[in-house]
Amino acid sequence: MTDHPSPPAVVPSPLTAFFWEGAAAGELRIQRCQACGTFIHLPRPVCRRCHSFDLRGEVVSGRATLYAHTVTMKAFHPFFVSRLPYVVATVELAEQAGLMLMTNVVDVAEADLHTGMDLVVTFEALSPELTIPVFTAASSIGASR
Ligand SMILES: [Zn+2]
Repeated sequence: MTDHPSPPAVVPSPLTAFFWEGAAAGELRIQRCQACGTFIHLPRPVCRRCHSFDLRGEVVSGRATLYAHTVTMKAFHPFFVSRLPYVVATVELAEQAGLMLMTNVVDVAEADLHTGMDLVVTFEALSPELTIPVFTAASSIGASR
């Protein structure tokens, strides 16, 4: 056993590769229907609104609001033990009402978290192979509206 366990492996599929490649490039990419313009997350093969197969990952603004959160006190994988406690959140992306993403909120004290607060994406490299999008307070980086 190593001192610092590796993060859980992410195995991109043809459906999800754009998301992980975007994160590695510092871009939040969300699947969008090219026929009707609907953003879709989690990625799926068919647009649930118009049934088009013409779906593709598009870069979004990275702006979001906090919809719900919880503070995790127990790690589900050894990699996360050193990160406890951490915030698991559902955020609503600015591009579309109801466009939710499950993520982490970082660098915000628990007492300062409140539903509806403005967030902005940032990226965290968990390993050389894995970068994930996480969110932080928009006010903390001067991006508040
Ligand atoms: Zn559509």
